[in-house]
Amino acid sequence: SERLKGKVCIVTGSSSGLGRAIAMGYAREGATLVCADLQPNARSEVSSETAVNTDQMIREKFAGRALFVQTDVSKGEDFEVLVAKTVEAYGRIDVLVNNAGISIEAGRAPARIHETPDDTWDRTMAVNARSIFLGCKHVVSQMLKQSEHPGSDRGWIINISSIFGLVGGYNNCAYAASKGAVTNLTRQIGLDYAKDGIHCNAICPGYTATAIFQNTIAHLDDHDSIRTKHPLHGIGKPEDIVGAAIFLASAEARWITGVNLPVDGGFTC
Ligand code: NAD
Repeated sequence: SERLKGKVCIVTGSSSGLGRAIAMGYAREGATLVCADLQPNARSEVSSETAVNTDQMIREKFAGRALFVQTDVSKGEDFEVLVAKTVEAYGRIDVLVNNAGISIEAGRAPARIHETPDDTWDRTMAVNARSIFLGCKHVVSQMLKQSEHPGSDRGWIINISSIFGLVGGYNNCAYAASKGAVTNLTRQIGLDYAKDGIHCNAICPGYTATAIFQNTIAHLDDHDSIRTKHPLHGIGKPEDIVGAAIFLASAEARWITGVNLPVDGGFTC
């Protein structure tokens, strides 16, 4: 039942939230993990669990293979090092999860377009959209050199977009624009590399209880207004995204590419 047995998977933004949950879920399914983030854990968060490095947790909990590579996903040279270190350690890359992202940063106010500082736009586009361009570019180059994974296709890319890559969200125009770019880039990469057996799909999560979410809701008037927008009730948990991320990296998704899958409790129904 180890659906990702033997697959070498890179997860960006692996030190907290969705990235950590996906990395742990992949390790549970038998994958080898390369954890990429600005730092190996999220010490600044309230939970003591996030003060432990994700790669260390994987080795301890699942006796899995895992390493951490410090990476700023907005920098091309960092992706070059990430790909080189992954190939050096494990010989190939089967799966890339482009998950790292930012929303309303701590200390910043939410903004409609006339209130949005230029550097908020630039930073958000760099971390959320340029990162997808760079990650796909460098990892696809490596995947094209590889043979297919036994019983599977050549490569699987999963971009973590957002419900706000599908519909508008209030007062967060840079974020919505960046995720809109992810949505269409996912279709484009799916189309361009289908003939090579490289799949590219995106997951569009609804509101999920993580550090980003805390920063975002700190600016909303009424927490319950988010709650009522998710028809399945409540706020998502990082684990709610993991099943879709495993499926989209597995041979079971062999006929799926270029798709933006909402995993959002019905938010975009
Ligand atoms: P989070 O803040 O808990 O985790 C984000 C991680 O990305 C952190 O570990 C952070 O260090 C890392 N990161 C930030 N900038 C980086 C950079 N330049 N280079 C490398 N790593 C960087 O947030 P999360 O909720 O787990 O977010 C993960 C993804 O899910 C993001 O792309 C986010 O937009 C998306 N998302 C989140 C929600 C939500 O409600 N939480 C909803 C929809 C989509």
